[in-house]
Amino acid sequence: MTARDYVQALIRADVRAGTAYQVADATGMVKLDAMENPYEWPAPLRAELAKVLADVAMNRYPDPHAEDTKAAVRAWMGVPESLACLFGNGSDEIIALIISNFIGSGLTVCAPDPSFVMFRVLADQYRVPFVSLPLDAQCQIDRAQWLSRLAETTPGVIFIPQPNNPTGNLFREDDLRAVIESTSALVVIDEAYTAFSDREHLAWATEYPNVVVMRTLSKVGLAGLRLGLLIGDPVWVHEFDKLRLPYNINVMTQAAVRVAMTHHALLESQSAAIRDERSGLIARLRERGLTVWESQANFVVAFVPEGNARAVFDHLKLSGVLVKCLDGSHPLLQGALRITVGTPAETDALLAALDQSPVLGR
Ligand SMILES: *Cc1c(COP(=O)(O)O)cnc(C)c1O
Repeated sequence: MTARDYVQALIRADVRAGTAYQVADATGMVKLDAMENPYEWPAPLRAELAKVLADVAMNRYPDPHAEDTKAAVRAWMGVPESLACLFGNGSDEIIALIISNFIGSGLTVCAPDPSFVMFRVLADQYRVPFVSLPLDAQCQIDRAQWLSRLAETTPGVIFIPQPNNPTGNLFREDDLRAVIESTSALVVIDEAYTAFSDREHLAWATEYPNVVVMRTLSKVGLAGLRLGLLIGDPVWVHEFDKLRLPYNINVMTQAAVRVAMTHHALLESQSAAIRDERSGLIARLRERGLTVWESQANFVVAFVPEGNARAVFDHLKLSGVLVKCLDGSHPLLQGALRITVGTPAETDALLAALDQSPVLGR
């Protein structure tokens, strides 16, 4: 028997039929595909970081609860004393551990459609049934549809990104409240983009017994460190902590995050620069006749007419600018390109490439 024969016999058919998470090669490109913060740290700060990391005890396991790091992040985010907090290796890991609780429970995982793909990917991986909750033509919660779908299933957890990815909008507060108040499920408000948005919902984790909030440092400039947070009533966090792998946050990440937290003003000013750049980017794309949705996140969604989205995406890529093509992923996203807000120079590069596109060129 070859290894392939063993794999055929032992690896689940759905896993063999699937593909690993795809990440486009962005070497040497203007990278506007993954909602990263485009700014680097100034040299003196990097020197300070290097000094701290040099002293980290890599031969030792990390603090299993990352207590000092947690205190620093909590202080920065203003998490009230009454709420507890758990770290994940990115919020992806938190999504995974929440879903893992529902394996074999008969309860379902629910999320808006379209929304962040990892909710469905991880539910499929853990074989917890996934139920999608449709958005209306304005990308808002279709309240009647949601309530009827939720009544037809037995929801265990509802993930709601606020603002939503990939649509970039905030859901209306009255709809969110109606969903939370109508369900016996846990509602996870995923605040990955809160730094770029006008509203946040930390207080809801106190107000509602069935709400927890998820955050991440990825979109504010620390994607490489992989640190996500679950914030909620200690009763929730106590249980989910049992599903967390020990030592999931490594020593380098813990140390680097503590350095970053002592310079949080830098992260804040970078996020503010991204919000400013977002308005300019939207305006300049609209000047070119494109429909562009308003955004509460660090990306914008622009629509290329007449079935040319893929051609424009390919042209941008050949010109050295990588964005995300959403065309074909959902009826609401026909012709859509998702463009991460970069530096002013990156916006210039994007627009220069767009202007030379055979379809949109001018
Ligand atoms: C990017 C993103 C995350 C995941 O971020 P991590 O890097 O795993 O912390 C979670 N939710 C949404 C909606 C996102 O867009």
